[in-house]
Amino acid sequence: MTWFIKGADLLGQGRTDIAIANGRIVAVGSDAEQPKGAELIDADGLVALPGLVDIHTHLREPGGEDAETIESGSQCAAAGGFTAVLAMANTDPVTDTVQKAEWIYARGQLSAYADVFPVGAVTKGLEGKELAELGLMARSKAKVRFFSDDGRCVDNAKVMRRALDYVKAFDGVIAQHAQDPYLAPHPGACCHEGELSGRLGLMGWPGVAEDVIVARDVMLARMTGSRLHVCHVSTAGSVDVIRWAKSLGVPVTAEATPHHLLLTTDLVATYDSVYKVNPPLRPAEDVEALRAAVADGTIDAVATDHAPHPAHAKQHDFPLAAFGMLGLETAVPIISDVMVRSGLMSWADVALAMSARPARIARLEGHGRSVAVGEPANIVLIDPEAEVVVDASVTHSRSRNNPYDGRTFRGRVMTTLLRGVPTVLEGRLQ
Ligand SMILES: [Zn+2]
Repeated sequence: MTWFIKGADLLGQGRTDIAIANGRIVAVGSDAEQPKGAELIDADGLVALPGLVDIHTHLREPGGEDAETIESGSQCAAAGGFTAVLAMANTDPVTDTVQKAEWIYARGQLSAYADVFPVGAVTKGLEGKELAELGLMARSKAKVRFFSDDGRCVDNAKVMRRALDYVKAFDGVIAQHAQDPYLAPHPGACCHEGELSGRLGLMGWPGVAEDVIVARDVMLARMTGSRLHVCHVSTAGSVDVIRWAKSLGVPVTAEATPHHLLLTTDLVATYDSVYKVNPPLRPAEDVEALRAAVADGTIDAVATDHAPHPAHAKQHDFPLAAFGMLGLETAVPIISDVMVRSGLMSWADVALAMSARPARIARLEGHGRSVAVGEPANIVLIDPEAEVVVDASVTHSRSRNNPYDGRTFRGRVMTTLLRGVPTVLEGRLQ
């Protein structure tokens, strides 16, 4: 298939045409020639970015297919402008062996809406004790480089040290869900510890429970020289530690979620479990610090932590409901509003935070590349002016736990191309 994207605003830096043939970009520029027989995509007024890469999704398959499958999750990804996602290891069974990693990789290849790469568990069964098959998963067909016990914290410093040491040989990264189990017990601690948690009588999850693990882990990364990635940073304290660690040259990277960049803990006063997420929503001061850190690159990447749950898992009192929110389909509208329209970031910055850097962190080949001749044609076209009114019932997900229901954003994904094949065209899944 050949395509000719006409008049796109590439990275928000100026109009250009993009010609695509056989899955690759064959011409870029205002004088690019339309290949013979090419289908035209009118991109007037649309911003073109490289296909987005999400290093933090929960696709729930195997074991949680009532919430999401690799296929439905990859449809959400495509609809959200993503061409690649990393599927977290906390499935049932846990992705802690070569066989399980290769199974997810193979299923991802069949889904075709986005490339799905398995995250390998750091420890067997996410139990925090014995290391999983890290080296074997790295050498498998799935070429796993990104390891995480996400959902659980690798709380034992000796295990964390060993994991960091181990992945160095194959340039892997350990992605930590930073939550000290004594300061913020899981699953008891259910919302930010503060005046509100006290008033509602909910067990608080203090920000310092994140900060202390991040601080510990950057010291371990400094000692081992291995790569550490901090998942879903939620506190100003973690930002301070990461900024300091980077100033010393410690090999640490970090991500923030759209929900932590937008929503604040006072929403928990509604007692609506759609606002229950781990780490919890934080006060406005933390949100401000996260925005500044994403804008200046201290936090390298935006990642969704897309966490689908069936209705019954959320239909409990706040303390007992499941943690997590949908995120893939709403990431672009939120980042467009919160980071771009606010003037904190340019679209070129968004391309770094949502494509180039996450692909680099996970060592993905063929994603996060520039929109340039010879590169795989992974491209997203965004209408920065189009209004998006979120309706939780309209989704490609099997779940509906969308905290933005009824909210309006501006910035809509119109077209997603995966290696030159449209997965979304004119806002519609193909
Ligand atoms: Zn997590």
